[in-house]
Amino acid sequence: MNHIADLFIGGQWTPGATGGRFPVIDPATGGLIASFAIADESDCDAAVEAAAKAFPLWAATAPRERGEILRRAFEILTEEKEQLAETIVLENGKSYADALGEAGYAIEFFRWFAEEAVRVRGDFRLSPSGDKHIVVTHQPIGVSLLVTPWNFPAAMATRKIAPALAAGCTVILKPARETPLTAAYVVDALRRAGVPDGVVNLVTPVPTGPAIARMLHHPDVRKVSFTGSTEVGRILLHEAADNVVSASMELGGNAPFVILPGTDLKMAVEGALIAKMRNGGSACTAANRFYVHSSLAAEFTEQMAAELSSWSVGPGMDRGNQLGALVSVQERDKVADLVSAAVADGATMVTGGTSSEHGAFYAPTVLAGVSHHSPITQTEIFGPVTSIIEYDDVDDAVRMANDTIYGLIAYVYGETAQALAVAQRIDAGMVAVNRAVLSDPAAPFGGMKQSGLGREGSSEGILEFLEEKYIGIDL
Ligand code: NAD
Repeated sequence: MNHIADLFIGGQWTPGATGGRFPVIDPATGGLIASFAIADESDCDAAVEAAAKAFPLWAATAPRERGEILRRAFEILTEEKEQLAETIVLENGKSYADALGEAGYAIEFFRWFAEEAVRVRGDFRLSPSGDKHIVVTHQPIGVSLLVTPWNFPAAMATRKIAPALAAGCTVILKPARETPLTAAYVVDALRRAGVPDGVVNLVTPVPTGPAIARMLHHPDVRKVSFTGSTEVGRILLHEAADNVVSASMELGGNAPFVILPGTDLKMAVEGALIAKMRNGGSACTAANRFYVHSSLAAEFTEQMAAELSSWSVGPGMDRGNQLGALVSVQERDKVADLVSAAVADGATMVTGGTSSEHGAFYAPTVLAGVSHHSPITQTEIFGPVTSIIEYDDVDDAVRMANDTIYGLIAYVYGETAQALAVAQRIDAGMVAVNRAVLSDPAAPFGGMKQSGLGREGSSEGILEFLEEKYIGIDL
């Protein structure tokens, strides 16, 4: 596969001002896939300036025309879905099936926002005193900085680029250092779809922090949309404050998966396997802690262990493997450390718990009798570890589910009326009742508490890139 590994500024692929490059590593082998261009300060400034120069014309482009370019990007990437999936596997390590699932989800944002571009609504009404008409309209917020993580390298980029472009904003995308090739692939599809020069730019500064801070202090940058950890989100919120830059934040999660007494266990195990193992557990939406009623805990544990111990683990490029590599050996070691700490806290290792000798693989793992206070319960695991905590009283399960700084997503399994009642009591932006997948471009994705600010997808997603404007007309 021939990968694009350069910056994209003002409609041109460029190796950057310094010519410096950083390695992109295949986590399944530790081998070098490509050397990617490093953006220095002058490249980042040039990207902001290109986006600022392109903004007036793009903002004035008819919504239908913007939508049609997004629709062409959807069609191009649909044709090339398998190539996109292979690029994801190569640099991220996930299984091919997970990568194909991500590619489909990612591409769908271009179709969804191609349709939303022409559906932005305003308002026109008489004021209560009758002295004027109130007109409420929207305008694109301006140059937008989009910062994305490595765990869904295609979908987290398209979930931001599509609404931004639909709204009439121009963008600078800063992908994660681990997965820049997927970002370059998506950007090139937009170029081929006819996005005008300067509307989409791609930079990969090393180190990241100072370059993002510099761009956030550029007077032309009016928006930052970030997906990543809560720790980095906090830093960006501080930096955005100086110029009062509008900020949307999709941050970390710590999803509880609550199994109520009387739940159909077959349904719960099927759901648990998906909610836990999708993307190898490296998902902000991954079920992180299973609160299982004591009447079902032993059997649930046994069935999860029986299923997961038979999973095939290996390179994602081998399409038969169900679980691929973690993104890096460092990430794998973080997972292993959390498991060791849980066992030291009294948890029982039912299956798994082993790291590979070569590559960043970690075996599907089931831990029983985990303490609610163990670090594994309080931290995002981001790996294939099922961590089971027993409870007797549903009120306790709800209390523990809410006992976290996060509030992104929760799963509740049980008899429908009881599960719905529990879902209402959980402080999360999204709750899945008797199902394991919620992500859908047509639904609002986002978190409460320290899991984020704002929503992506749905009709809300485009509003993050629009300013509301009120015009009063004298009668
Ligand atoms: P991360 O926060 O380490 O990095 C995310 C991005 O921020 C990367 O592009 C990185 O290069 C950049 N970055 C790192 N330090 C920075 C700094 N000081 N200033 C500016 N930018 C900086 O996250 P990650 O490890 O790439 O991704 C995993 C995290 O993302 C998890 O916490 C996960 O829950 C979260 N996530 C959230 C969602 C969501 O929608 N809520 C979706 C996917 C991932």
